[in-house]
Amino acid sequence: MKIRTKLTGLFVLSLSIIMIILSSIIYVLFSEYSQADFYSRLESKARYTVNLLLDVSEVDSILLNKIDRVSKQNLINERIFIYNDDYKLIYSNGKRNNYVADTLFLQEIKENIEYRGRINNAEVYALYYTGHLDKAIVVVSAEDVIGFRKLENLKKILVLTSLFGVFLSFFASFFFVKNALSPIQSIIHEVNQIGNSNLYLRLSRRYNRDEIAQLTNTFNEMLERIELSFEAQKNFISNASHELKNPLAAIIGQLNVVLLKDRDTEDYKKIITSVLEDINSVSSISNKLLLLAKASSDIGLSNFTLLRVDELLWKARNEILKRDEESKVNMVFSNYNFDAPNLSVRGNELLLLTAFVNLMDNGCKFSFAKSVNVLIDYADSQLLISFIDTGIGIDKEELKMIFEPFYRGRNSVNIKGHGLGLSLVSKIIAQHGGRITVNSEINLGSEFTVQLPVDLKIGAEN
Ligand code: ADP
Repeated sequence: MKIRTKLTGLFVLSLSIIMIILSSIIYVLFSEYSQADFYSRLESKARYTVNLLLDVSEVDSILLNKIDRVSKQNLINERIFIYNDDYKLIYSNGKRNNYVADTLFLQEIKENIEYRGRINNAEVYALYYTGHLDKAIVVVSAEDVIGFRKLENLKKILVLTSLFGVFLSFFASFFFVKNALSPIQSIIHEVNQIGNSNLYLRLSRRYNRDEIAQLTNTFNEMLERIELSFEAQKNFISNASHELKNPLAAIIGQLNVVLLKDRDTEDYKKIITSVLEDINSVSSISNKLLLLAKASSDIGLSNFTLLRVDELLWKARNEILKRDEESKVNMVFSNYNFDAPNLSVRGNELLLLTAFVNLMDNGCKFSFAKSVNVLIDYADSQLLISFIDTGIGIDKEELKMIFEPFYRGRNSVNIKGHGLGLSLVSKIIAQHGGRITVNSEINLGSEFTVQLPVDLKIGAEN
């Protein structure tokens, strides 16, 4: 069901309920008022008649009958019966002079002094009257035909006005809801125009501060992010294929050249070594791409195990030394308390090891002495691991970009690499709930600091 239909329905339904409740209240109040008014007229009639009969000595029942007949204030089908204290009828205005009320009823009036009620479609008012000279029970009954008609009319008016109100409210709510939802319709229309080929399009700006304007802004911000990531993805693919194409083209070229003529063993060895270097380069790129994909996907906390960071750093150091014996990785753990349990983090061993190896490798690669110092510190439940080198440093303008995939700094022209290491490191650290920061000065060196949240539960257990 469309929101417009739903809102219109709800609006009409709630208005109908309000109309029914209000009409009922008006009807009940009016009917009570009309009844009370009728009883007060019956009461004054009863008091007036009994007062004349009992307290005015010149008035007897015959004279009272005559007075009553000419009275202009008689009610419709009005009957008056007056009984003495012994329940004998002493006055009646109707033809049925022999009417005798039920003695039990009269006794009840005597006990309760007053009675109001409906008997045989007539309203009845009865009173036990104590005059100056005598006491009597007066019973007045009449039909409230006018009040009943008024009530019937009121009922009709209320039903008709309610139906008309509901009818009008249907149209009013239809146009009101249509008007209120029209910005959403235009947003839907504009969103439908946006596709892969025109992601640069944005929803028209709204300058008020209502929810629709907020929705438009949020949507535009989301489009901005989507466009950026779309762009980054496109660049990533073209960069990746470019990086893979170069060594593959070199391999093909070298193999074609070697096949042109017979060569001596030394030449073959040289070419095979060069081809092997290119193959290693392809293999290193594809390995890093695979790891990047792994680190970009949600690896999930359930796959994490408890790891000692110092052990991982030693493993990373061994890996670096295996690759190049001349590299120097100095572990400066001197001021750290190694018994402290807060060296433990939850993580994926392969990914964390890859991150540490990359940071150590960069430190050695970009420093004059091929050396990097590794420091560990602890603050605010965070483990701080710094990789400090005294190398060529990084340009301030480039500090933000070095974490983008395939970005290589101006300082790396003669240094081997593919620009994937730091983007991989930052993804891995983010997946582990940590962050990486960098400080660098050209020709003085760089300091990369990794912050990792320690597993405090382990600390508490110990
Ligand atoms: P690669 O090392 O393969 O070029 P990275 O992603 O690891 O790729 O690094 C990206 C860029 O950051 C490098 O090309 C280099 O310009 C800069 N960089 C990284 N680490 C250092 C460092 N320790 N000293 C100086 N520059 C660095």
